[in-house]
Amino acid sequence: MKFLVARLNHETNTFSPLCTTLADFEPRYGADALAGERAARTAMGAFIRLLEARPGSTLVTPVSATANPGGTVDAAAYEHLVGCIVDALASDIDAVLLDLHGAMVAAQVPDGEGELLRRLRARAPNVPIAVALDLHGNVTPAMVEHADLVVGFKTYPHIDMAETGEHAGRLLLDWLDGKARPVMRWRQLPLLSHTLCSNTNEGAMQRAVQAARAMESQPGVQAVTVMAGFSLADFNDAGMSVIVVTDDDAALADRLADELAAQLWREREGFVWRSEPLAASLERARALAALPGQGPVLLLDHSDNVMSGGTCDTMDVLAAALEAGLTGIAAGPICDPQAVAQLWDARDGAHVEVDLGNRFRIHATDTRQPMLVAGTVRAHSDGRFTVSGPIYTGAQADMGRSVLLDIGAAHLVITEKRMEPYDIGVFRCVGLEPAAQRFLLLKSRMYCRPVFGALARGLVECDSDRGGPTSSNYAYFDFRRLRRPVYPLDSGAAPEAH
Ligand SMILES: [Zn+2]
Repeated sequence: MKFLVARLNHETNTFSPLCTTLADFEPRYGADALAGERAARTAMGAFIRLLEARPGSTLVTPVSATANPGGTVDAAAYEHLVGCIVDALASDIDAVLLDLHGAMVAAQVPDGEGELLRRLRARAPNVPIAVALDLHGNVTPAMVEHADLVVGFKTYPHIDMAETGEHAGRLLLDWLDGKARPVMRWRQLPLLSHTLCSNTNEGAMQRAVQAARAMESQPGVQAVTVMAGFSLADFNDAGMSVIVVTDDDAALADRLADELAAQLWREREGFVWRSEPLAASLERARALAALPGQGPVLLLDHSDNVMSGGTCDTMDVLAAALEAGLTGIAAGPICDPQAVAQLWDARDGAHVEVDLGNRFRIHATDTRQPMLVAGTVRAHSDGRFTVSGPIYTGAQADMGRSVLLDIGAAHLVITEKRMEPYDIGVFRCVGLEPAAQRFLLLKSRMYCRPVFGALARGLVECDSDRGGPTSSNYAYFDFRRLRRPVYPLDSGAAPEAH
């Protein structure tokens, strides 16, 4: 049998002023894609391993492309990558296995994955299509109409990408072998979850995934997925949903989907993050730092979370922390190539003044201006280091030319490129020891935790009072295309009856 296997991953923040280009996807094609994914802990890697272990399989792997979460995908990049996959669907292909994210928005196509699946279906109406999704995918009617079976991750932080691919792949093979016939049902809720509330190790999301696993252990049930969705996407279908696949039992799929959707709705308050005023967060941080103990207090600026489309340059949290009188702060990276160009030629020890950050207009009424800071240049670095982990261990990081600026109350790592601080190297590469600071200001909500959480005495989530590119307070965002009403934006939201 001949299988089409491909990977196309992007989580799109339509409110980000940045644009995601073809280069951001670092695409690999054909044999290169196959070789690159064969051993990877991705859904595509799992597809490949499963199929290569099956006698008589031939694989066609047109592309593997994944970009960090960011702004809207540009039209040409979308057409190119989707075109690679659709063009590979020749008449002799027996089945398609796709590793998708589920929350991709392109400039001309709001439902990135739904449109890809629609084009595949139009070309080969009877070829089975199996899809593995990220738990933050925004599932749409087109996605469930044009895919035969969909299975999503059950973990966040994500650790089960390969397991999800294997699960979806096995269901597809069972179907091809005549052992089962998948029937899929989907329920969409009028509910935007917050990324900070989609941790599967706590709260309502943990209980939802536990319920899904319990359902999967029932006879006749093939897969049950809770989709948290990705809410910083202004298009019709952003938000939470559930997907149930059974073996040829529509009534069972309907009943379980209804049950799980009802649980999510009952627990809706558990998916909503209520941001406190920034000044209150900083007071909590000050109190934490005064307690006995070791290590810094983390100030997590989730209004500018770099790997969700953050610009890595908003200054609100730093400005408020300085205004509140906090000292012993290390902040970074702050991405500002203009400031680096100005600072690079200043020798270590030189006193400088520089405009820093706030280079983008985040929303229509944004009045932010760069912040004028004065201080002493302490170090220069090429910004390159080997990631010590535990996330992306061994990878080569490159923040571009980087400068350490000491402004008295804070040390700022100023870089040419955006990077989420998920590794200790972001500070050590300019000679700063993060464990020795009183506060670490990090533009990260989750990826920083494994490394910096381990050396911190505590952490405080800080949301800007003016809205940032990834604020958790959705009131800052001007949703125009989202279906309404939707909770928590509208009090009148209620699920559709089935
Ligand atoms: Zn995700």
